[in-house]
Amino acid sequence: MRQKLIAGNWKMHGSLAENQTRLTQLVSGLGDTSAQVAVCVPAPYFTQCKSVLAGSAIQCGSQNISEYEQGAYTGEISASMLKEFDVQYALVGHSERRELFAESSEQVAKKFAAAKQARLIPVLCVGETLEQREAGITEQVIAGQISAVLDQVGIQGFADSVVAYEPVWAIGTGKTASPEQAQAVHKAIRVQLNALNSEIAQKIQILYGGSVKPNNAAAIFAQADVDGALVGGAALNAQDFLQICNAAS
Ligand code: PEP
Repeated sequence: MRQKLIAGNWKMHGSLAENQTRLTQLVSGLGDTSAQVAVCVPAPYFTQCKSVLAGSAIQCGSQNISEYEQGAYTGEISASMLKEFDVQYALVGHSERRELFAESSEQVAKKFAAAKQARLIPVLCVGETLEQREAGITEQVIAGQISAVLDQVGIQGFADSVVAYEPVWAIGTGKTASPEQAQAVHKAIRVQLNALNSEIAQKIQILYGGSVKPNNAAAIFAQADVDGALVGGAALNAQDFLQICNAAS
C-alpha cells in the first residue's frame, strides 16, 4: 500500500511574517497523519521553513531547480544549493514553468536528472491543456512528457521519485478533474511505467493537482491510483491544507 503525499505549492506568495504564521499553524495543527506532508516554498524562505518545521514531520521542497550544476546561469539555483538547505523535494516541470518560462520537456528531463543526481526527490509535473483534452489526446500528451524523462534517466530514475498529474485547465481555475478523469490518467501513467518495471510502477506516488480543496480531496484520494495531491491555492490557508492532509489520512 502506497503512503499518500500531500505537497503544498506556495508559488510566489508569502513574506517572513505570513510564512511564520502559516508554518506555525501547520506544525501545531498537523497531528497524527499517515500521509507524508511537504511545503514547496519560495527559495529565499528555505532557512525560515526548515527552522519552523524542525522537529515536525513536514518536509520542505523547492518549486524549481536548475538543470546545470554551476556556472554563469544568472538567477538559477542548483541542486547542490538546494541540498545545502536540506530541501527534500523539487518540483520539476510545473505547467507554469513550462508555459510562462518556456521550459521544454527536454529541459524538464534534465532538471529531473539534476535532482536525482543530488538525491533530491523530483516531483515531475505533467498535464494536458484544455485544447489537448478536447482533442482527445490527453493520455498521448502525458505519455510524451513522461517519455522525455525516461529518455533522459531511464526507468530506474523513477525509483524514489514522484509524478504529479496536473491538468493545466484545472490549475488555479476552480475547475477540477472528476475523480474518474484523474484515475484514468493516473492509471495510464502507472501502466506506462509498469511496462518497463513493475516494482517501480507499483511503488511510485502519483499525485493529483488542480484546484484540490477540502471539499473535493476525499473523493479524489479514494481513487486507486491517486496517491495524494499537489496543492496550490488551498496550501496558502493552513486550515484548508490541514483538512486536505486529514482527508489523505
Ligand atoms: C499547483 O499550482 O500545482 C496547483 C495545483 O494549484 P491549484 O491547487 O491552485 O490549482
